[in-house]
Amino acid sequence: MKSLPEVLVGVLGLQGAVSEHVDALNRALSELGLKGRVLTVKNPEQLERVRGLIIPGGESTTIGRLSARGLASKIREKASQGMRILGTCAGMILLAKEVYDARIGRVNQPTLSLMDMEVVRNFFGRQRESFEVPLTLPILGRELFPGVFIRAPIVEKVWGEAEPLATYNGKIVAVQQGRLLATSFHPELTEDLRLHKYFIKLILDTL
Ligand code: GLN
Repeated sequence: MKSLPEVLVGVLGLQGAVSEHVDALNRALSELGLKGRVLTVKNPEQLERVRGLIIPGGESTTIGRLSARGLASKIREKASQGMRILGTCAGMILLAKEVYDARIGRVNQPTLSLMDMEVVRNFFGRQRESFEVPLTLPILGRELFPGVFIRAPIVEKVWGEAEPLATYNGKIVAVQQGRLLATSFHPELTEDLRLHKYFIKLILDTL
């Protein structure tokens, strides 16, 4: 029987919910019965080794600033060569081509500008900084997915190759563009590993 190759997955480790994603990936790999390793990526040399990268939630301006030298251009280069990327919350903002802030309007913060989508940061405002809602996410099956939102962005619109995967109150909260995935919510803060498993399968081309 042909065995699957070992998969090396990275989590961008500059700021934010890094260890939660590392844990979720490790658990997802083991539940899938795969040999795999998870690497916290802090520099271009580490990035060179991974086939997939998670950009975690945190503060998108901080992560953007910290990756501005070297890492950001390396991420873009690897993405053009086929690296899979999952961006969650701040990670979603960093993947977007257009960024607005709910209060300020259009902002010019540095992003990777990889996905055909316009996001609005801090969409839910101060009244609802964090909340959890069950989401319909057909790529993961019929069982609803627990959507944990923390000062979350929404996607105002997508174009080109980007496709909405889920909505909440009429707003897009998950998007896929080929090898790139983005969610407004935090799958790493739940016990549900289906999104991490989906991402691993995307890396292995076994979807
Ligand atoms: N509000 C944050 C930002 O704009 C994102 C919050 C999060 O990642 N939990 O970067």
